[in-house]
Amino acid sequence: MAIMEVKNLSVIYHASGKRVAAVSDVSLTIEERDAIGIVGESGSGKSTLAMAILRLLPERIAQAQGEVSFEGADLLTLPAEKLNQLRWKQLAVVFQKSMNALSPVHKIGMQMTDVYRIKETGISKRETRSKMLQLLDMVNLPERVYDLYPHELSGGMMQRVAIALSLMHNPKLLILDEATTALDVVTQGQILEEMVALEQKLGITRMMITHDMSVVASSCNKVAVMYAGRILETGLVKDVLANPVHPYTKGLLKSIPSFTGEKRNIRGIPGSIPDLSVPNDGCIFAERCEHAMDSCLIEKPQDMVLPGNHRVACHLAGGAAYVS
Ligand code: ATP
Ligand code: SF4
Ligand code: MG
Repeated sequence: MAIMEVKNLSVIYHASGKRVAAVSDVSLTIEERDAIGIVGESGSGKSTLAMAILRLLPERIAQAQGEVSFEGADLLTLPAEKLNQLRWKQLAVVFQKSMNALSPVHKIGMQMTDVYRIKETGISKRETRSKMLQLLDMVNLPERVYDLYPHELSGGMMQRVAIALSLMHNPKLLILDEATTALDVVTQGQILEEMVALEQKLGITRMMITHDMSVVASSCNKVAVMYAGRILETGLVKDVLANPVHPYTKGLLKSIPSFTGEKRNIRGIPGSIPDLSVPNDGCIFAERCEHAMDSCLIEKPQDMVLPGNHRVACHLAGGAAYVS
């Protein structure tokens, strides 16, 4: 069953007299208990998509259009009070820098308690403390963390506390925006493994925003490849990794040697994301695509649906076997 349906979502930033199309016509269905990776290079609109879903965009400069249905409500038009009830309780988010929000002069346990009590009232101090210790245990942190100050924690411990905070009210959908990016590979791997086990136990659905395809490969069942505000390819991780069809996805995977088995230096895809303030009627990837044809410059590719609901927005996707 779908837990969230994003339909034709677009976000424009009004910045320095320009209109920046950060997210363009994104549609996405997230099924209950999915772990969906949103992957793409810097500036592709991943965080903007998450902020739009959570309705956390800066209202003065950002304008969102489309629909985000969650539990039968459209989050984009839901009255603020109702939206507030959903945030944290049903929908929670962890950012890369979530822990910066913590005060350096108060102990972790006390700060967790303060956050908890914003939404849960009428609970005794003792009950709250035991709930906080339970949360710490859930993310594999020892009890003593309760009495530590933020500066006494390692980066990995900090991110574990941030995850514990996000799980506080048993959310149905958890959005992680580059939440493990700053950690070393071993700690990141451990946290991802623990996350997967935890969400299976708690029945959580996860949206994982990352620029790192290996994070998606190791912890998600679905993937959406984002570029310049659009989703270029989406499907089950096993299908997309085994049979990437969009030239951009192929480039992303080639840049990770372990996926192709080739012994080559990690390299990016030549070129960079186009200027999003310039309207584009064709394929947004055309400037960097080695297969670009004349039609790619003037005609926006529609999603081609391959077996397993594997979707690809490329004019060449119809004869998939062919794009090398
Ligand atoms: P990263 O991997 O670096 O976090 P991202 O995929 O999350 O990148 P976004 O931060 O969503 O990308 O940015 C998408 C586009 O929107 C970029 O062109 C960015 O410059 C622009 N943008 C983001 N925030 C703002 C803002 N507050 N005002 C104007 N433009 C913005
Ligand atoms: Fe390349 Fe054309 Fe496909 Fe775009 S539509 S990815 S330019 S072949
Ligand atoms: Mg981001």
